[in-house]
Amino acid sequence: NPSFVNIKDLMNKRLPRRLVNLLRLLGAYGNELKMSVYVVGGFVRDLLLDIENYDVDIVVEGNGIEFAKYIGQQFDAIVVPYEKFYTASVIFRDGFKIDVATARTEYYEKPAELPQVDISTIKKDLYRRDFTINAMAIKLNPSEYGMLYDFFNCQKDLEQGIIRILHNLSFIEDPTRMIRGVRFEMRYNFKMEEHTLEVLKQNLEGGYLERVTGARIRQEIEKILEEDNPMKAIRRMTNLNMIKHIFPKTYYTQTMDEKLARLFKFLPKIKERYQSVSDFYAISTILLEYYDKQTLETVRARYGYPKKFIESIKFTENIMLPLKEMIELRLNFSDIYKVLGKANPYVYLHLSAYLTDEGQSYLLQYIDTISSTKLQTVTGKYLMGKYSLKSGPQINEILEKLFAMKLDNPNIDEEKVVSEIIEMYNSKLEKETENQPERE
Ligand code: ATP
Repeated sequence: NPSFVNIKDLMNKRLPRRLVNLLRLLGAYGNELKMSVYVVGGFVRDLLLDIENYDVDIVVEGNGIEFAKYIGQQFDAIVVPYEKFYTASVIFRDGFKIDVATARTEYYEKPAELPQVDISTIKKDLYRRDFTINAMAIKLNPSEYGMLYDFFNCQKDLEQGIIRILHNLSFIEDPTRMIRGVRFEMRYNFKMEEHTLEVLKQNLEGGYLERVTGARIRQEIEKILEEDNPMKAIRRMTNLNMIKHIFPKTYYTQTMDEKLARLFKFLPKIKERYQSVSDFYAISTILLEYYDKQTLETVRARYGYPKKFIESIKFTENIMLPLKEMIELRLNFSDIYKVLGKANPYVYLHLSAYLTDEGQSYLLQYIDTISSTKLQTVTGKYLMGKYSLKSGPQINEILEKLFAMKLDNPNIDEEKVVSEIIEMYNSKLEKETENQPERE
């Protein structure tokens, strides 16, 4: 029992004037090309929920690329077509972007592969979507402008806070929908409907998530991590036994839960200081702890972690407990430096998961001190010139020693201290030669 009501008054009330004008124009241009034009998906969902969302996804019955090109001409906008998918992006002169698709019936040659595309009608297009709350369209052509196309009782689900698949093969067609389901549950505080949940659990056990490429799984996880409360979503995925199908050797325990929660607390501080820190890598430092080499190699290949990242987390996982203690004891930065050195942001994040709030702020001081401390006068060149040292590991050793001392005491006189270090080296050297037994 489809329900079509006109919601143009609601659109006028909730959307900015300029956007309403644009939508009306899109409908009018649709008439000129004799195509039906709809705005669909998340835009409609959020409009009805009264949540701001200006991601305009357009679907046309007809050729979407032709429509996009026509719009491009009318507005003098840039059109980026994706011929293979019958879709296009239109980027207006002020930078505003809309996506245009051709109404389609996606069919999948094999489950878990990218869909093949066929031209079809809006109802079939909506039926192929992930959940009922995302499966509504608003018509934009002038005679029906503002008409809400709801074929599957979607509005009712939206009102009742229900996430429901449109048909039983939904998760098999695209298993990433299982993760999307959790994301929408958490974002809107909705619940997956009973049957949907049952199908999800069956398909999860059926191993369908494992058939999807790692890149697509990773993308959906990254989207979850961008939401307001990623911990809540991770817990939900754990309760659904989903984590196991994503990270095969991860045993989610109370301790792991606490570590992740602490890591998330520290994450914004690291992001302020380092560019392009990935949330996915960040949680991986914990989720992949104590993995055996072989499984680690499997997940590395699957999710595309850089070799360096994996090596780094494996190398450092053994020093986490000692470092936790050193930080709890508030040892000097120079002592911590001997173990931790100047680490990469993921090592700091990993460590933060072991620390209380106070420990985390001590770690942050350490990070900031490391990055602001520079040797001013004493350099390798200086050592070679003044002390006629030959280039080699000894110079590095001296510079490191001096750097570590400066971490604790930023006001040291570098030249004076370095002369003392060198004196100490020399006397040590002398003693060693003295102690060596003379050979006959
Ligand atoms: P968000 O607010 O997070 O952007 P969204 O619903 O707009 O959520 P998108 O990923 O931008 O999500 O997708 C736009 C629309 O495309 C969705 O509303 C949904 O109808 C459809 N869609 C997206 N991904 C899938 C999928 N995996 N399977 C079926 N339909 C999908």
